[in-house]
Amino acid sequence: MRQTWVTPGGVHPPENKLQSLTQPIGSLPIPEKLVVPLGQHIGAPAIACVSVGDKVLKGQKIADPAGTVSAAIHAPTSGIISAIESRPVAHSSGMAALCVEITSDGDDKWIEKLGISDFEHTSASALLSIITDAGIAGMGGAGFPTAVKLNPGFQRPIDTLIINATECEPYITADDSLIRERAEEIIEGIRILSHILGNPHNILIGIEDNKPEAIEALAPHTQDTGINVVSFPTKYPSGGEKQLIYILTGKELPSGQIPADIGMVCVNIGTTHAIKRAVVDGEPLVSRVTTMTGEACEINRNYDVLIGTPVEHMLEHNNFDAQSCSRVIMGGPMMGFSLTSKQIPIVKTTNCILAPSVEEIPHNEAAQPCIRCGMCAEACPVSLLPQQLLWYSQAEDHERLEAHNLFDCIECGACSYVCPSNIPLVQHYRSSKSDIKKAQEEKVKSTQARERFEFRKQRIELAEKEREAKRAARREAAKQAQASTGTDAMADIVAAAQARAAAKTTSPEQELAKLQRAVSSAEMRVEKAQVKLDSALENAEPTEKINILSAALSGAQQKLEKAKVRLAEHSN
Ligand code: SF4
Ligand code: SF4
Repeated sequence: MRQTWVTPGGVHPPENKLQSLTQPIGSLPIPEKLVVPLGQHIGAPAIACVSVGDKVLKGQKIADPAGTVSAAIHAPTSGIISAIESRPVAHSSGMAALCVEITSDGDDKWIEKLGISDFEHTSASALLSIITDAGIAGMGGAGFPTAVKLNPGFQRPIDTLIINATECEPYITADDSLIRERAEEIIEGIRILSHILGNPHNILIGIEDNKPEAIEALAPHTQDTGINVVSFPTKYPSGGEKQLIYILTGKELPSGQIPADIGMVCVNIGTTHAIKRAVVDGEPLVSRVTTMTGEACEINRNYDVLIGTPVEHMLEHNNFDAQSCSRVIMGGPMMGFSLTSKQIPIVKTTNCILAPSVEEIPHNEAAQPCIRCGMCAEACPVSLLPQQLLWYSQAEDHERLEAHNLFDCIECGACSYVCPSNIPLVQHYRSSKSDIKKAQEEKVKSTQARERFEFRKQRIELAEKEREAKRAARREAAKQAQASTGTDAMADIVAAAQARAAAKTTSPEQELAKLQRAVSSAEMRVEKAQVKLDSALENAEPTEKINILSAALSGAQQKLEKAKVRLAEHSN
């Protein structure tokens, strides 16, 4: 029997698993409308690639990944896209986010499925591409895009592949039932993973010893495969990556590092099943096994549920009694969160819908002041100091929270579970983590904005300098042009004057004709003046007028004489 290690802390709450394991995995009628959120994974929400009114087939891609850390989304059934809008989604805050609503046509008609029968002869990159296209993200709760996890981006060899079949949280039996019924497919999925990772030396399936039927189901399929099923004592929580790595290998994952940093990859067992379906059967991730349990439902069992199925649909088909229910929880009693709306849909990470009666899980009692009992610190599997984290959280002291490793908290709820003062410790930690992340994002944004501003300022200054240099160059060029233009202009003036002078120079014949015309014209003016004077004398015009006309005749006669003299001079 393989050695295992014991993690610190932990609790042993009532398991309450048997009630949902009395029947095999079932299926539900297809809901009339499925609401498929575009953000079901860690990373950027996918981007819708369909429009309202489009007809889609089951398995058809309806949203593309938005970048590397993102995941594609596919239609869980055939029908018509009836809305793309914000709806309440699975989140502890009750927030709304963009969803694609599909109105089912009832046919549940698949796209053409293109599986690969010989994955051993397919390259790792081609298999990763299939996993990416199938929209597979961690189904154990975190929802990290699986292809990214399997391809951490550096050349460190992976020597250990850990399959997480712990399912340590009370009530939840989705993985247990999946292993019992589909062990062969799961092992095939593990072989695909092993092939992608270059056949790691160790392949370990970690499973708690409260699942003997599942362990038994795995046994025949793991014989002579090099895959080891490692069972260990049941304790909550054992399913966190850090905890499971330590339990199975005795190695501690340093704070801030990922398993690949120490040569390991950890994958949820439900995810391995989805990988097999994607690679071998050509089916993208459109459904998952989810536990429906709690005393407020008459039927407790596991279902293969279409992603996007409203929780209300599940409750209705399990004879839900709203009167007796204390609250509807998505997830388990330790790490789950109360739903603000029963319209919230099942997503890729939904492993359980818990509808407990008031007797089973009473309404939250009012929190009392901390009595410093230290029980929370004893229960913490990460050896944190929950009580101090609480103080710093209440004081919004982000610096101290980070210094006390708040981000190592796996939000297991063990501290809240043991707290005699009923303090909702995990809620405080979640809220503080969210605040710190927001503050960090703001800081990054403001740094980027400042850098952009500085860059723009420099760019403008540089452009202004360039413009000024060009202006100076133009001024200099103009000055030089002006200087040379001045000389040219003078030359032009002289040339023009010479041209005019040349133009004025006429031939002797022309000059003679001109003088002759001047004599003729003067003679005519003398005659006219004589006629006017004679007329005035005959008509005994006033003396003044006769004087004027006499003067005009005299002037005309003088001009005639001058013209005659010039003509005579020219003729000589
Ligand atoms: S368990 Fe509760 S009461 Fe006790 S120290 Fe922790 S927070 Fe305080
Ligand atoms: S919720 Fe966080 S602080 Fe509390 S026990 Fe779990 S890991 Fe420790």
